[in-house]
Amino acid sequence: MTTFVSRLKEENVDSLRELTGWRRTDYWDAGLSTADADFYMPLVRTFWEAGHPRIGEARDAARRLGHGIRVLAKIDRLSKKGDNPNDLRVLLCGTREQDLDKVAAQHTTPPETKDEATIGVSQDGRNRLVIRSTEPWLMDYIHGLPGVEPGNYDGLYEGLKKHVENRTQLTAPRRMIHILVNLHDLEMILRGDGEDILVRATDGTWRTGAELMEELLAGVGLATIVNARNEPMKQYRLKRYFTQAQRDMIAAVQHTCMDPDCKIPFSMCQADHLKAWAKGGETNLDNILMLCEYHNMKKRDGDVYYKGSDGRIYKRREFGPDVPCN
Ligand SMILES: [Zn+2]
Repeated sequence: MTTFVSRLKEENVDSLRELTGWRRTDYWDAGLSTADADFYMPLVRTFWEAGHPRIGEARDAARRLGHGIRVLAKIDRLSKKGDNPNDLRVLLCGTREQDLDKVAAQHTTPPETKDEATIGVSQDGRNRLVIRSTEPWLMDYIHGLPGVEPGNYDGLYEGLKKHVENRTQLTAPRRMIHILVNLHDLEMILRGDGEDILVRATDGTWRTGAELMEELLAGVGLATIVNARNEPMKQYRLKRYFTQAQRDMIAAVQHTCMDPDCKIPFSMCQADHLKAWAKGGETNLDNILMLCEYHNMKKRDGDVYYKGSDGRIYKRREFGPDVPCN
């Protein structure tokens, strides 16, 4: 053991000189392996055969620092990637082993990165697709695949296959970002006053409070914000038509046709927009007006229902004060 270690320690830039001019067959003749030849031949070329500018300085520096053969191999590899390999070689030969990577990085321009997709064939014949991208669409796409969750990509291959074979639809993008909302803003957003509020996300993007709600709800389709008494307060304009769930929920509030003079039960009524969709009315619970067929027709003919400043629904009268509907 001791002799093996001491022999390893003796291997340095000068012991390489002994191998100058050796070809592969010379290594074999000496009883060494092809792997030995592959390791030593490039090193001998760099430090003794090629005649690189400043190679003498490099060897002197390597002797001074006592660099062994493995360190020289690392220096050789790092130098070749440098902006100026001959100068970097001298510099690295005069650098302590633990600082080699750091110093090399300072004198090496990293290859320019660009977003790209490449295909190739592996040695075993399988096709290979590699996508490198800094744009958000790629992770959005991946996270939309079936069986894939942020942080769990075991199902990625099967998910890709299903999507390409048209056996599945992508789900809405689930971005792994953290959206920062302070409590005061949150309160306003939940009240539906989010248009003027800007919230920041950790991916550097900004959205208004209202956009945030729509984004959060996009994958859900229906979400109701209720107050402490479980009364629906706010939904967002996601769809033109009221969902069955919304009809079910509004039944708790509007038991009959909302016309003040009508008692037709809820089950025989139609859900209509109190403020017309065409005029910006949202498909929200607080914009639902349940009317029987007759009163719905009358509304289309000009009867007016509206929400008063007190939150109650009123029917407009031609003469006299308007009448509350409930
Ligand atoms: Zn009615």
